[in-house]
Amino acid sequence: MDALLHEAADRSLRYLNDLDARRVFPSTEAIQGMERLNIRLPDQGLDPSEVVRLLDEYGSPATVASAGPRYFGFVIGGSLPAALAANWLAGAWDQNSVLFSTSPVAARLEEISESWLVDLLELAPGTAVGFVSGATMANFSGLAAARHALLERKGWNVEDQGLYGAPEIKVVVGAEYHASMRKALALIGFGRERVHKVPVDNQGRMITKEMPKLDEMTIVCAQSGNVNTGSFDDLQTITEKARSANAWVHVDAAFGLWARIVPELAHLIDGVENADSIATDIHKWLNVPYDSGLVFVRDRQALIKANVSSAAYLIESGKRENYFYAPEMSRRARGVEIYAALLSLGRKGLAEMIARGCKHAKRFAQGLEDTGYEILNDVVLNQVLVSFGSPEKTQEVIRRIGEDGTLWAGGTSWQGHTAMRISVSSWATTEGDVEKSLAAILRIAESVK
Ligand SMILES: *Cc1c(COP(=O)(O)O)cnc(C)c1O
Repeated sequence: MDALLHEAADRSLRYLNDLDARRVFPSTEAIQGMERLNIRLPDQGLDPSEVVRLLDEYGSPATVASAGPRYFGFVIGGSLPAALAANWLAGAWDQNSVLFSTSPVAARLEEISESWLVDLLELAPGTAVGFVSGATMANFSGLAAARHALLERKGWNVEDQGLYGAPEIKVVVGAEYHASMRKALALIGFGRERVHKVPVDNQGRMITKEMPKLDEMTIVCAQSGNVNTGSFDDLQTITEKARSANAWVHVDAAFGLWARIVPELAHLIDGVENADSIATDIHKWLNVPYDSGLVFVRDRQALIKANVSSAAYLIESGKRENYFYAPEMSRRARGVEIYAALLSLGRKGLAEMIARGCKHAKRFAQGLEDTGYEILNDVVLNQVLVSFGSPEKTQEVIRRIGEDGTLWAGGTSWQGHTAMRISVSSWATTEGDVEKSLAAILRIAESVK
């Protein structure tokens, strides 16, 4: 075991140390090379060190270097050193986080992280936090809590009775809501098409004047951090409207939530403290390893009752039972990495990391704009949308940037415009990486006619 784990650590370190020098998206040869892993499953197992060697030799080159400093696709963070180290340790622990009795440490670390986060984000005291696999499951879990709470008002126990014959729930979304919210609405049984879509402005923000009448059977799904523009719905207005109608507000804040801890950005998300449920990702901007997300629910009992059978939740162990707060029962100890990330950064370090990503995004936007390329969004956070001219030219620039390998950024379509998206979400990105990437983008864009 010792030699094997040392070897795995050595190979991992070599991988991480090579990240800066290698191309970001793997080469065609590396992708073809993976076929060496496609062997006939042997009757006799291989030596574990041989297995690790195969994975490293043919697997590592076929990875996307998103753990490195110049990956700007989607919204993808790397892994903070403390979070990765905690992940290794937690792998060795191999804890089942379902119950206090299966892992006291997993229960306690989630409890401690919960209180740190609720305090750090200035949410209502007593807000419950569920530890899930990402923002999609967090959106799903927020909706499950909402569904419980709204139907309970009508004397309907949805966990016992299901949705057939239940009083109707109206769901309101902004027209630029994320695909993940659509998925969550489908999974929860509300239906993707049975929603009221509120028109949005040119940044993707809900035009609140055009919201329908809300009532106590309405869930408003707002968004903090549009995946293209980084824009924020006006949560002050939305939560005020909802409060007077006794409606539920769920916020998809997969990456935008962190604006709250940076003094210059906090105004963007004012009002989130009045939301009923909030979904966020931890594997994005908090830079912990995949997979990790959180759901915050102000009404602790609504989250608990949505997740446990009515008899079980009455068991008062006096300890945190992690499965009360999330759809999964047996699962890994995600709280370990979150605890490590928060503790290693501290309040100041965390705010600095978020502010740094936004500063890098501004630099990208300025450098591109100065050269005459059009920035399609107001760069309020860490997202930049740039057009290089015609849709064909923009797509060709994106393709060549991927091929070049200095960085990676993806394409998108924003309100009828073809654009390249730059998302700065990694702790590892330095000013030097931004300058190097900007130079590569400009060089490539100039070469495309
Ligand atoms: C990334 C993202 C999601 C989905 O998150 P997963 O971690 O992939 O489940 C949801 N909403 C927004 C706004 C996002 O950016």
